[in-house]
Amino acid sequence: MTSSAGQSVQTRSYDELSMLDKRHVWHPFTQMKDYDADDPLIVARGQGIKLIDIQGREYYDGFSSVWLNVHGHNVPELNEAVVNQLGQVAHATLLGMSNVPAIELAAKLASIAPAGLNRVFYSDAGATGVEIALKMAFQYWHNLGHTSKQAFVTMKEAYHGDTIGAVSVGAIPLYHEVYKPLLFPSYTVPYPHPYRYDGPNSDAEAGAMEATLTALEQLLQQRADEIAALIVEPVVQGASGIVVMPQGCLREIARLTERYGVLLIADEVATGFARTGAMFACDLEGVSPDLMVVGKGLTGGYLPLAATLATDEIYAAFYADFEERKTFFHGHSYTGNPLACAVALENLRLFEEKNLVAEVRRKADALKPQLARLTKLPHVGDVRQQGLMIGIELVTDQADKTPYAWERRIGVHVCRRARELGMLTRPLGNVIVFMPPLVSTDEELSAMVDILSEAICDLTGEEGDAGAC
Ligand SMILES: *Cc1c(COP(=O)(O)O)cnc(C)c1O
Repeated sequence: MTSSAGQSVQTRSYDELSMLDKRHVWHPFTQMKDYDADDPLIVARGQGIKLIDIQGREYYDGFSSVWLNVHGHNVPELNEAVVNQLGQVAHATLLGMSNVPAIELAAKLASIAPAGLNRVFYSDAGATGVEIALKMAFQYWHNLGHTSKQAFVTMKEAYHGDTIGAVSVGAIPLYHEVYKPLLFPSYTVPYPHPYRYDGPNSDAEAGAMEATLTALEQLLQQRADEIAALIVEPVVQGASGIVVMPQGCLREIARLTERYGVLLIADEVATGFARTGAMFACDLEGVSPDLMVVGKGLTGGYLPLAATLATDEIYAAFYADFEERKTFFHGHSYTGNPLACAVALENLRLFEEKNLVAEVRRKADALKPQLARLTKLPHVGDVRQQGLMIGIELVTDQADKTPYAWERRIGVHVCRRARELGMLTRPLGNVIVFMPPLVSTDEELSAMVDILSEAICDLTGEEGDAGAC
């Protein structure tokens, strides 16, 4: 290749970088034909809750760089934590040995996690954390001699990451259908979705919750002896469109899995670390799962790190003489990376210093009247909020909740308009995601809602809507 090695990136022009990007980088979850037809946004740096592109334009990071960011960008304390650890060691393996930040972080996670989750297994992405939870659940029963318990239960429209195991317990047809021949089969029960509930109960919340619990109980009654675990996105199902469970539903799910002897895996990759207004979504319902996966906000959005937390009971099923072959044979090259663990520790220290869990709850409440303004826009069907995890569902008709045709890509167009107005986010189909960094101030949150409101009006406005926007 003729790309001039050694040339500093900053000296290249936008046109040069854009050309190289289009020539060499294959972007995730992106139709590259669309990408090539547009002018790419190339981030140069970040400051506070804003990202700045190489042409000097500033954008609110309205989706926390895909649901990760906690304290903003370029945070002195987090930068220092990385630099200090770099002065010690950047990486050393956890295979049969240990390192200081990995030990300290594991103890810290055990102290803040729901009761009983005392054992921490590291990896480097939410998807790998999910793979580990699935394999642990499967091998737990195997090690105990219950070899018939091999299957998993997931929930309709679930998303647990993009590796094959995680996709096997995923249930979003657009993402997952094509890989079906590669996947292990899972049982699926409905996730309660009050806005889309069309059953007989006049109370949509109660009806949606009952439909879920009835389906789950029937399945467990018939098949519990074949089922290793149920995996759930607790309280908020993220990638399906920020769908919030009715209160009490997670607790009932936990009660059923316990009653029928099925492990409960909580995928807190999106909901963990105060995103929902509690440290973990499980805390909102007083639920202690058997396995819990965390990622995304764990390092404040700085470095790739995930962890699968397990109870002592699960750990004990693997603890044996070597000859018994109960070892958990799983690991990744960068498992327990010291830089990532060091920045995660500083992230969690800042949570306490800023009293961030309570602050998120306060800000989420203060945001409610602003979000209520959005529901008045003619093509907003539903605004769903849990903490600072917000989804705005667009419909062609509010009364009959008609979705926009998927080919219309209304979400993509609204987000593209928001970008022109100075805010970044990505849609989930017809749902606009609003997931600001947790440190966003009330003023910054208002400014972002104003941008969303304007972008929605600009793209959904029709004759006859005049005056509503
Ligand atoms: C993002 C996400 C994952 C996957 O995490 P990656 O780090 O992208 O692999 C898994 N589960 C949930 C609920 C998520 O939101």
